Amino acid sequence: MIQKMNFHTHTTFCDGKNSAEDMVLAAIEKGFTALGFTGHSYTYFDESYCMSKEGVKAYQKEIQRLKEAYADKIAIYCGIEQDFYSDEPISDFEYAIGSVHYIKKNGRFLPVDEAADIMEKDIWELFGGDAYAYAKVYFETVAEVLKKTGADIIGHFDLLSKFNENGIFFDTKSKCYLEYGISAIEALIPYDKPFEINTGAMYRGLCSEAYPSVDFLKEIKKRGGNILLSSDSHDASSLGYCFEEMGKVALEIGFPSVLVWTPKGFEEVGLK
Ligand SMILES: [Zn+2]
Ligand SMILES: [Zn+2]
Repeated sequence: MIQKMNFHTHTTFCDGKNSAEDMVLAAIEKGFTALGFTGHSYTYFDESYCMSKEGVKAYQKEIQRLKEAYADKIAIYCGIEQDFYSDEPISDFEYAIGSVHYIKKNGRFLPVDEAADIMEKDIWELFGGDAYAYAKVYFETVAEVLKKTGADIIGHFDLLSKFNENGIFFDTKSKCYLEYGISAIEALIPYDKPFEINTGAMYRGLCSEAYPSVDFLKEIKKRGGNILLSSDSHDASSLGYCFEEMGKVALEIGFPSVLVWTPKGFEEVGLK
């Protein structure tokens, strides 16, 4: 029996399509027992997708209202998706997902998950056309994400593969791509925090695999890492997307369980 919970949820306070209350109602409808909200933290260099500074306060107030209003039906948590380059504190939130959405090169912030043509342009302009040099900087940034953000969960580990269907940028089986990723895994394992298995890009039809790829999941397992299922939901119908399927994939790789976040710490939920 797979978990009926999601800990990576966006709303109209950032770049989600539905209100927080609509997300709660959809989660209840699906029989969920817990829903964790994680609005995008404020990034001064790009305000297009994140919560504004004032918006963060309204977000916290609304999640608190929903927590009380629906307390008898579902557990609601107020978290944050903390971007690597966000300067805002995370202490006002119940938990945080640490995510790299940009890499920094020559003083510029390059969005990793915005569009394929932006990525292509950045690789040509700032990395001389070398996609692996781009991947190296990306994974070096991810390696530091828990140290930098103080987060509880590692968000979409290999987000840079979002527009890489059919290997248009990187051969994700190549030695150097895997090495860069494995170095990041090895840097993150000692923190003992779960890597999320994020089905967001699968839901959007962009990727056939979740983040992290099966290759990276195997490396995480080999090194004793933990996982947590998340649908990185930007709309109500994506809640819990492909959890059953990804639970089976994880079990096949050798993970006997996934972790779920609770106010008392992480708890294990068996995958069998
Ligand atoms: Zn994200
Ligand atoms: Zn997200």
